[in-house]
Amino acid sequence: MKPKYFALVVGSGFSGSLLAWILQKQGKDTLLVDQSAHPRFAIGESSTPTADFLIRHLAERWGLSELAPLASFGQWQTHYPDLVCGKKRGFAYYSQSQGNSFTDDDLHSNSLLVAASSDDARSDTHWLRSDVDHWLFQQAVNSGTTGLERTSIRNATFDPVASKWQCTLASEDDQETQVQFRWLIDATGGSPGLRAWTGVQSNSDWMRTRTGAIFGHFRGVEDFAIQTPSYHEDLQNLFSGDDSAQHHVFENGWLWALRFCNGVTSLGFVLPEASWPTTLKAAERSAHWQVLVARYPSIERMLRSSEIVAPKGGLGFMRRLSRCSSSAIGKGWISLPNAYGFVDPLHSSGIAHSLSGVARIAEAFGGDERWSHNLLNAYAEDVHEELAWIDTFVALCYKGLPSFKNFAALASYYFVSAIGFEQDVALDPIHWPRGYMLAKDSSLRSRAESMFKTVSENDMGSKQLVEKIQSSIAPWNRVGLLDPSQKNRLAHTIAPKQVF
Ligand SMILES: Cc1cc2nc3c(=O)[nH]c(=O)nc-3n(C[C@H](O)[C@H](O)[C@H](O)COP(=O)(O)OP(=O)(O)OC[C@H]3O[C@@H](n4cnc5c(N)ncnc54)[C@H](O)[C@@H]3O)c2cc1C
Repeated sequence: MKPKYFALVVGSGFSGSLLAWILQKQGKDTLLVDQSAHPRFAIGESSTPTADFLIRHLAERWGLSELAPLASFGQWQTHYPDLVCGKKRGFAYYSQSQGNSFTDDDLHSNSLLVAASSDDARSDTHWLRSDVDHWLFQQAVNSGTTGLERTSIRNATFDPVASKWQCTLASEDDQETQVQFRWLIDATGGSPGLRAWTGVQSNSDWMRTRTGAIFGHFRGVEDFAIQTPSYHEDLQNLFSGDDSAQHHVFENGWLWALRFCNGVTSLGFVLPEASWPTTLKAAERSAHWQVLVARYPSIERMLRSSEIVAPKGGLGFMRRLSRCSSSAIGKGWISLPNAYGFVDPLHSSGIAHSLSGVARIAEAFGGDERWSHNLLNAYAEDVHEELAWIDTFVALCYKGLPSFKNFAALASYYFVSAIGFEQDVALDPIHWPRGYMLAKDSSLRSRAESMFKTVSENDMGSKQLVEKIQSSIAPWNRVGLLDPSQKNRLAHTIAPKQVF
């Protein structure tokens, strides 16, 4: 007998909800379940041009006209003024040191601004995830997806002969429902909840990036960029550093600040795993936060009137963020990228990676069924390589610390990868010959590996290191990264992007 549902998508974050919406649009009955209920707090909010390109592609490819405005700040504001987002004109990095206020010089030696859009209308966004995920869940349900909140799997078995799952779902009030479906799609964002049914294990020991974070949403965060010496010049030539993914970089980590249009700012300190206490109970987190804030006078000033508004239980804490599973695919199941693994918030690669997974899985299921297994297997292999590549270019940046100059110079490997991939997607949104973020470009990856070895084994001065990086990235560097005449201000980095 044919199962009732084509797929059970477990996890109704933005990626699970979007994939369920697309599958339903493809005419495949889909069940979407989540153990929690919308709107719910979620971290991971700074989007990128890469994500915008993928949103535009998904909207066009699968006829999701409601989705298209989310690809740019201007259209988002016009179509969904009540769906909260923030304006992100690019990336801004400021050097902070213990006990000292932020200062800069004419060469902007202590800051780096990289534009990712030419004006506010074409700007990227920060996503208030409680709003965006809820909205996407509603779109999936409006398209005919069956959506069940406060529901999880109690039992699941796969019959390889009939190629279908038999599953018992349980609601919060212990009501059981029996369902049958062909594909189990893991969109749980890395929670171990599905391991009993998929058999995957943790496979994170190989990862180089090992950081943890303490984070929350705050009201009353003051503008920072306006205090910087180059504020007016930056505003005129590029953007305000407060309309960006703002990174305050210090000797062993950094603080993110993402400002939403409703007066709320997402903040999070990211530090090496080893520098956090082994446990940090909810009641201890606020005091720990204050200790970190008090180290950096300019951060302290920015946060002097701030108060936490979410999550409800107080600051979130994860001692180690990087993780990877033993597999992204198995008999009758497939994982979305963030369920398979994650590296670190640095460079905001998570949303785009998740969307790239939605795009590939949707393509595999949406075409000729004879090819779908091949496409899914290829995706599962690729997603591991992509995580390994993200891990390398993020770990490279941390290797540059405590020097801000080295950190910023090593970020060039990320920028050439993101810009190269955006150019590829702008040309052909379905086929990516160099892979997601150029993960299949063996030449770039081997140069990054060799740079990793160099910075691990040598304590190099900034001048020498910058020269080495310049020569290492030269074939991919089309935007003047590390060109001293740019004085750490990059205005033109984005592939042509249209406003809908
Ligand atoms: C500290 C931090 C900062 C980050 N910052 C950024 C950033 O700035 N930019 C960026 O691009 N990315 C960032 N990321 C990554 C980003 O959070 C992820 O890419 C994103 O959350 C992926 O969304 P998702 O829908 O796949 O999963 P999630 O948002 O994690 O959603 C998973 C859903 O599954 C549900 N669920 C879990 N287990 C079960 C179960 N057993 N049964 C039923 N339901 C279940 C949950 O309730 C949840 O609703 C960050 C990540 C972290 C950890």
